[in-house]
Amino acid sequence: MINILDELPNEILEVDATRLHEFVENHTLVHLKGKIKRPLFISILQHGDETTGWDAMKLLLKQNADKLPRSIYLLFGNVQAAKNNLRQFDEQPDFNRCWPGLHNHSHEIAQRMQFITDMMAEIKPFASIDIHNNSGRNPHYAGINSLGSKFINLASLFADTIIHFTSPDGIQSGAFAKFCPSVTIECGMSGTADGIEQTHTFLENLIHLSSLDTIPGVAEHRQVLNIFSTVKIKPEISIAIEGEVTNPVNFVINDDLDYHNFHLLEVGTVFGHLDDEKTDMPFVVTDQIGHDITDHYFEKRGTQVCIKQQVIPAMITQSIRAIRLDCLCYLMHPANPLQSH
Ligand SMILES: [Zn+2]
Repeated sequence: MINILDELPNEILEVDATRLHEFVENHTLVHLKGKIKRPLFISILQHGDETTGWDAMKLLLKQNADKLPRSIYLLFGNVQAAKNNLRQFDEQPDFNRCWPGLHNHSHEIAQRMQFITDMMAEIKPFASIDIHNNSGRNPHYAGINSLGSKFINLASLFADTIIHFTSPDGIQSGAFAKFCPSVTIECGMSGTADGIEQTHTFLENLIHLSSLDTIPGVAEHRQVLNIFSTVKIKPEISIAIEGEVTNPVNFVINDDLDYHNFHLLEVGTVFGHLDDEKTDMPFVVTDQIGHDITDHYFEKRGTQVCIKQQVIPAMITQSIRAIRLDCLCYLMHPANPLQSH
């Protein structure tokens, strides 16, 4: 079903993500044995253009070349797309929507994810880390799918900004949350030095840590935000980013909109401009169970599309490709983990 190795191919630590395909196939799982047997599961490059995970792993493995303090299962995601610095190929599904969840798929990628999940459910890792980057400006943050204390402690080791989300379906950290503390970490723009360093430090801490029951000295700073909806652009609405408009389009998205990420937005904050007052609302906002809640959060004021209620956006991207493949952004409210058990 997948390739499983018990050591890394020679020289692999010398290459960038774009050359990994010369050494491993998509979904190669490598078991690296360490002193503590209960492993850390680490997933990298589910999106081929998000290379921070591999850059941090190289530092971690070089520094612990003699003997790893803890065993690691390292999963390589889309090394073929990484070759072309692409999130995924056009004909491919999003790898991080194919893990076992509410809606299971039957295609080959989903079968591989099911196989890996079943295997790891038996092994019960110490923790599971899925490493990603954003295409827009965001603080580095950790995403969790459960408000259990071990999940929050695990996330706090990476960043003070923590988001809790239960959708989209089919993501790696959601599938693994059933049997071990799991987290998705978002390390800023791909390949930036601060994101690599923060990820490396996080992984280095985790391979030495003996328990996630208590993490001293972090509780007072951390903020947990709850993602409650996804903002997509209707497929029939043509879009462009302000300043990059070459042809007339239905909706021009404000330049620098991604500066709003993780800030509380006031009513009336403008997201962009329509070509005509009669043009449809360009967004569809859906809650976690798929209900259309667009009218609660956005309104048209003339040709402007504005926020209708105070809300905190996350992961606003200014990449048209990412907007079309995934979404424009998510909307969040502060969560109170202490009351949510
Ligand atoms: Zn990603």
